[in-house]
Amino acid sequence: MVSTSLLPLESPSPAYICPYDQACSYLEEAARELKLDQNILEVLSNPRKVVTVSIPVKRDDGEVQVLAGHRVQHCDILGPYKGGIRYHPAVTLREVSALAMLMTWKCALVGIPYGGAKGGIAIDPKRYSIGELERITRRYTSELLKDIGPSVDIPAPDMGTSAREMAWMMDTYSVNVGHAVPGIVTGKPLSIGGSRGREMATGRGVMIVVREALRDLGNLVIGTRVVIQGFGNVGSAAALLLHEAGAKVIAVSTGSGGVFAEKGLDIPALKAYAAENHRSVVGFPHAEPISNAELLTLPCDVLIPAALENQITEENADQVQAKIVAEAANGPVTLEANRALDARGIIVLPDILANAGGVVVSYLEWVQGLSYVFWDEDRVNRELEYLMVHAYRQVIQQSKARQIPLRVAAYTLGVGRVAQALSDRGLYP
Ligand code: GLU
Repeated sequence: MVSTSLLPLESPSPAYICPYDQACSYLEEAARELKLDQNILEVLSNPRKVVTVSIPVKRDDGEVQVLAGHRVQHCDILGPYKGGIRYHPAVTLREVSALAMLMTWKCALVGIPYGGAKGGIAIDPKRYSIGELERITRRYTSELLKDIGPSVDIPAPDMGTSAREMAWMMDTYSVNVGHAVPGIVTGKPLSIGGSRGREMATGRGVMIVVREALRDLGNLVIGTRVVIQGFGNVGSAAALLLHEAGAKVIAVSTGSGGVFAEKGLDIPALKAYAAENHRSVVGFPHAEPISNAELLTLPCDVLIPAALENQITEENADQVQAKIVAEAANGPVTLEANRALDARGIIVLPDILANAGGVVVSYLEWVQGLSYVFWDEDRVNRELEYLMVHAYRQVIQQSKARQIPLRVAAYTLGVGRVAQALSDRGLYP
């Protein structure tokens, strides 16, 4: 067992699955497969820097609330730290640390020169006004000024944040350093150096790997029955692109519940409905209601969990009736559930591959920002397509060559590249 002394222990309910322990288990599994040096494993098991800052925020009614804002920088062996900022009530330091580690392997797997990071604040953004969210984001950014930078650590959107928060971050950073710095964040609005195609990028990446996996099974996207848990940025983009490619998206859910239509949902209409109904799909006409739990076990070809972690566990893994599970969220399938799905021959496209489209186009946005040359959407989508298909093929090849499940294959590729770089660079001093 490796030591992770930088992070405080948590002791919630016995059913609690610690995301950091889970991330370390995946790392250790890859390390065993690679016969990795124990010393390298020890280094990679720990984040390089853990920052928690105090964010005093004046609420609209005058009350002052103090929030904790985290930023965890896991590893910068291959390049600057990179990763999203999450606003969600379930955020903890251990979760943010696990997600930072995942980012390291994800970037290495798809071959972009970044290390992993993640940030988060434990708030439900729906309970804050836009003005309050702006004050929170700006204060959080200013508290992190010394830890972030276009060649140091580049934040991006994650659950609960979007281009709007990135614009506030970019502005706060730029005002403090005295000039506009587009490369400080990715996922920004187009008007300040965002990239075409970034908003749909994670969903597009999901669509690409699902399409490739279907092709390997001898199937086309047309007519494929797809079920999607989560209808936020990623879930809705994947739904729309798969729908446009001819798939039948038969069920979709959000936190408040889901909808099911045997013949397939009209995804553009569902998107418009959710936009008008506080992002909920409940009550959408021409569809039946369905719970999140029922949705995960519907008979279908492709199941896309695009919401929170730990959705497919030992409890429900044996009821999953999909041929392919594509992890659009981070960590939606637990380690044990993944083993159970593997044993049943269900293909699990792991998160660090399936949802890498977002950070790939973040990288393309950063490159455009640094060079002050901006591309059209076709070029962005072509580069994304190339990197995603290439990474997918490598994972399949690694899985076949070593006779290991896809997740272990993806981890061995990501971890192996970082470990190689670490051993080439050596340890300072
Ligand atoms: N939050 C996204 C992820 O988990 C994107 C990160 C980024 O673009 O830096 O991959």
